Amino acid sequence: MSKIIIAIDGPAGSGKSTIAKMVAERLDFTYLDTGAMYRAITYLALQKGIVENEEAVNELVAGLEVTLKYENGITHVFAGDFEVTEFIRSPEVNSKVSEIAAMPIVRKELVRMQQHMGKFGNIVAEGRDTTTVVFPNADLKIYLDASVDVRSERRHKEYLEKGVEIDIEEVKKNISKRDKIDSSRETSPLKKAENAIEVDSSHLSVEQEFEILFENIKKKIILIKSQNN
Ligand code: C5P
Repeated sequence: MSKIIIAIDGPAGSGKSTIAKMVAERLDFTYLDTGAMYRAITYLALQKGIVENEEAVNELVAGLEVTLKYENGITHVFAGDFEVTEFIRSPEVNSKVSEIAAMPIVRKELVRMQQHMGKFGNIVAEGRDTTTVVFPNADLKIYLDASVDVRSERRHKEYLEKGVEIDIEEVKKNISKRDKIDSSRETSPLKKAENAIEVDSSHLSVEQEFEILFENIKKKIILIKSQNN
């Protein structure tokens, strides 16, 4: 049977990762966290002090293979042989990742790696251009959204749970800035694919959001299987 690709898109804090992991686990599909790859490049660029130097970042990404390994709820991220998982969700990476992700060569290289990963099995791909650029022919496209206040509250809670003290206004500022860069950049801006199912989770619990989506996903998978028979 041909591989099934589910792509989930949406702005920062819309619940993409949580929902994508739940869907992947329920279906036993591979979870592809594309944002983790942009974060890995950003972390390395920060380490090397080259974030503002696009040419140096291009060279960095051209000589590197970023790979992901999802195990027990955690995406392990490798830049070459070096594991960067524990470094890529810091406030420093958060504040620079959209600038790195707006660089065309970075996008081209990472999209190539993501499409390659998509060849090996059923996947749930999550990230800001997965429905439009990485997998425009995905079997199912989902666009998740929520108000900026709700998204900021969720991110703030995540920080507190990790022991990172940060003001909620700071989080909101960062999310708004990322929204702006992500939706206005020239290469692959964040936008809803025409045939995507859209869910606004501002007033939904994660479980409610998941149930709504999973009903749609089940129907689609049944349809695909019947067409393949
Ligand atoms: O999803 P996550 O918050 O980890 O993504 C971090 C950043 O990486 C986003 O704000 C966006 O700038 C960038 N990104 C992207 N395209 C993707 C995934 C993430 O531009 N497919």
